[in-house]
This record gives sequence, C-alpha cells and structure tokens, in this order.
Amino acid sequence: MKRPYPWKCHTCRERQVFPVTVDYVTELEHDGRVYSVTVNNLEILRCRACGAQVLPDEAHARLAEELRHQAGLLQPGEIAAKRELLRLSQKDFAHLLGVAPATVCRWEGGGQIQQRVMNDLMNAFFDLPELRAYLRGLRGLCSEAPDAVAPTVHADNPPTPGPVPAAGPPGEVEAGS
Ligand SMILES: [Zn+2]
Repeated sequence: MKRPYPWKCHTCRERQVFPVTVDYVTELEHDGRVYSVTVNNLEILRCRACGAQVLPDEAHARLAEELRHQAGLLQPGEIAAKRELLRLSQKDFAHLLGVAPATVCRWEGGGQIQQRVMNDLMNAFFDLPELRAYLRGLRGLCSEAPDAVAPTVHADNPPTPGPVPAAGPPGEVEAGS
C-alpha cells in the first residue's frame, strides 16, 4: 500500500520524513471567519532533519470535519443522508439548490466545505416542505413525486384495482340493431 518510511523531505531533500501522532492546533478560515481548530491524536508527517510538516489527506479530512463542527455546518454524511431521505438524486438536489451536480458531489464527499449561505439554504430546504415546493416551481421540476409514486404496499392499504373490462363480447352492442 504505502511506501515504507522514511520518505524524502520536499524541503531539505533528506530521507527523514516519519509519521508522528500529535495534538494538532491550527487556525482555519471559513467564509471570512477564523476558527481555532484542535484535533487530538492526528497523524501527520514530519521531517526529523528540518522539521517540515506535511498533512496527509486523512489529516486534512479530520481538520475539515472539526472545522465544520465548530462552524456549525452540515457534515458530508448528513447532507447525503438528508438528501436521500427526500429521495432526491444528487443531480436533482443540485438543480433545486442552483449549484452544479459536481458541487454536491464534493460537499458529500468531503472535498469541499459549503459556504455558509449554501449551508443555511440546505438546512431550510431539508426542514421546510414549502421551500422545496417553491424551488421545484422555480426550477420547473415536477412536485415531490417520490412519496406519491413510492411503491409501498401495506396490507391495510392495498393497491387500487385496475379498471374492470366491460362484460360481454365486443360485437354484442351492434347485434341488436
Ligand atoms: Zn526536511
């Protein structure tokens, strides 16, 4: 999987980069505000020769998660779960919010942190059926079909039987005239 340590340092070129577990404290900016973010037991890479530090992808993901938490933003899994509860595809959800499908994909995958205004819009969208109906009208998407169309059949709510075909052979009506 991973190359064995030590790795070569991009700063001093020494092969002295090792993983270390630290309590990592940093300041991160989101939407014009600065948050002091602390993640305990974070695995990062550090050069023993020059002290240069590199954050692996997993470390970035944990910092982003903590930043979202501190800023009161929806986490990637929450966005996906709430969207799926409404039986919306990423594509339709993006269309209703007025963003690109790739953007929703990045929010739900954790690759991008949503702006505050989009976070608030999503919360309102999830909480308010009236807003969903409004946006459906605005974007020209048909009304919330999934609930109406969902093939949930309960014993006490049997499906409506189809139209009963008219009795008698087709020729009978004309036969008497
Ligand atoms: Zn170094």
